[in-house]
Amino acid sequence: MIDLLATPLDQLVRILEDDYGKGLFHAEAIYREVFKKGNSNVFLAPEFQASPKLSQALTGTLRFDPGQVEKRFQEDELTKFITRLSDGLKIESVIIPMTRHNTLCVSSQVGCRMGCAFCETAKLGFKRNLTPSEITGQLHNARHVLGADIKNVVFMGMGEPFDNFDAVMTAIEVMNAQKGFDVALRHITVSTAGLTTGIDRLAAMNMTGIRLAVSVNAPEDGIRSRLMPVNNRWDMAALKKSLADYPLGKRGVFLFEYILIKGVNDSLAHARQLAEFIHPLPVRLNLIPYNPIQSFAHESPCDEDMHAFADWLTRDGVFVIKRWSKGRSVCAGCGQLGKDVT
Ligand code: SF4
Repeated sequence: MIDLLATPLDQLVRILEDDYGKGLFHAEAIYREVFKKGNSNVFLAPEFQASPKLSQALTGTLRFDPGQVEKRFQEDELTKFITRLSDGLKIESVIIPMTRHNTLCVSSQVGCRMGCAFCETAKLGFKRNLTPSEITGQLHNARHVLGADIKNVVFMGMGEPFDNFDAVMTAIEVMNAQKGFDVALRHITVSTAGLTTGIDRLAAMNMTGIRLAVSVNAPEDGIRSRLMPVNNRWDMAALKKSLADYPLGKRGVFLFEYILIKGVNDSLAHARQLAEFIHPLPVRLNLIPYNPIQSFAHESPCDEDMHAFADWLTRDGVFVIKRWSKGRSVCAGCGQLGKDVT
């Protein structure tokens, strides 16, 4: 069986060469039909119409299963959609409108085992990893079922991408192929809670185009371990070392996410400590107000708190972008995914 949404182009070429005596010509036709046009019946393509024997030999061997878009929620231009997978489990993805194009936020796991205190997905626990085709299927559904013009893909949905490393990397390879989905590596962001093993593995692959985001959320280990248990295993010193060793490229920057939680990580002293942690890493820090969830009884910061914290960091030389989370009313904001799949 050839799982179309999970097979990188060079691998598809090899299969067609080894098993069917064909090659690049037909592999590219499959890629064009499936990924560019969203047409899973590749046998209608002229290349296959002209090769009835190949079509016959491939009949019944091509698998195409992006999952079923079951529901969608809309808040202004933002869309959250739920996909039902072949075993009945569900995942959430979000299409976020940007200035010119859209960004698709994809899930990499059903649930998550990282247990971050402020996160709705954590409450689901860990159900299972997504397969590569369940990850690329989200892009297929966004583009070809919901008709969204997607330019950027961010792995910031349900799950920790580095906890499903191999499947995520295969999905990225498929998404990146120019003849197919054609999402440039520099338009793909992988966001981690700080699994340094994953950061080190990515560094070794030398895929330096990919953007790396780290969910930091605390200025020091005590607070971070309370918010993000993953910090007990890989503390901030280990995280900083992995980042310092990462081959970023000349003008590369890390994206740091910092969810500001009233009374927890929002003081002047916290800003100072955070700036110290960041220095001298090249970082763009996204400051995001906490989106309250039921199980973590803390308040969102007010706008003045956000401005003040951003100003303190800026004065200490940190490049900060304040992000007022979109999609709160449909639970598509940061840390809110997972509510509508139970
Ligand atoms: S914030 Fe990310 S890593 Fe943490 S529990 Fe939620 S989905 Fe998992």
